[in-house]
Amino acid sequence: MTASSSNNIPEEFTEGNTAIISLDEELRNFKLQSFHSESFPNYINDLDNAAMPIQKAFGFVLDSALELERSKQHDEVEILRGCIPAIIELEHQINAQKTVLKDLEQHIRREPMNDIVGAYQKQMTRENAKWQLLSDKKKYKKHPFYTEFRNDVWAENHGDEPVPDSDDNDEDEDLVVGHIRQSTTCPITQTYLENPVTSRICKHTFSKHAIYELIRKNRGRIPCPNAGCGQTITTQILQDDFLAERRVARLRATEASQQQTQDFYNVE
Ligand SMILES: [Zn+2]
Repeated sequence: MTASSSNNIPEEFTEGNTAIISLDEELRNFKLQSFHSESFPNYINDLDNAAMPIQKAFGFVLDSALELERSKQHDEVEILRGCIPAIIELEHQINAQKTVLKDLEQHIRREPMNDIVGAYQKQMTRENAKWQLLSDKKKYKKHPFYTEFRNDVWAENHGDEPVPDSDDNDEDEDLVVGHIRQSTTCPITQTYLENPVTSRICKHTFSKHAIYELIRKNRGRIPCPNAGCGQTITTQILQDDFLAERRVARLRATEASQQQTQDFYNVE
C-alpha cells in the first residue's frame, strides 16, 4: 500500500489497473497479528452504528402502516408488511459481518493469519448459507420487527384486546413471545423509558441514565434489574433501542391527544 511497494510491480501489470493488482497483492501477503485484534471492537462498533438506520427505516414503515390502519386501508398495510423481510435481510447482513469479525478476532489472538480477505469471504459465504437454510418463519416472523408490526397494527383498532394467533397454527412455543406487549416503562425508575437501552443478551430494556448509574455504582456489573432475570449486565452489552424510544413517543402522543379531547369536553 506504500508508494515503494507499487513501484515493485512488473511493468506489464501496471497498465491501467495498478491499484487493483497492488492492493490485491498487498492484502494477500498481509499478515494479521494478535495485536491487530485490538482494533476489532471498533469495527464491530461501526457495524452497530450502521444498524441504526435499519431500525429507523423499520420505524418509518411501522409509522406509515399505523396511519393507514387508522384509516382502514388494510391493503396498503399488507403491502408495507411485505417490506419487512427486505429490512430484516439488511440487518442479517450486518449481523453476519459482526459474527465473522468476532471469529476472525478470536483467530488472530491465537495465531497470525494470512489472506484475511479470503478468510472473511469464506466465512461470510458460510454465514449466508446457514441463514438461507432457515425457514421464513425463523428468519422473519419471529423477528422483533415482525412481531412489533403485528402487535402495533392490531392495537391500532383493537386497543388492549389480545392479538389473535398468527397464521402459523403449530406448537412452536417461541412464537408466544410475539404476544407479550413490549415494555414502555423502566424497571428501575418505574417511569416511561428515557433514552432506552436494551441488553443484547436478555433483551430487557432500561432508561440509559438509570442503568448506567446503577452499573457505575456497582463496579461495572449488576444482575439484570428485571424481576426474575438474573443475567449479568455490563455497559458493553447495552445497545440504544430506537424501537422502544418510538414506542414511548407514540404512547405519549396518544395520551396527549386523549388529554386534549378531555380538556375539550371539560370546557363547558
Ligand atoms: Zn434481563
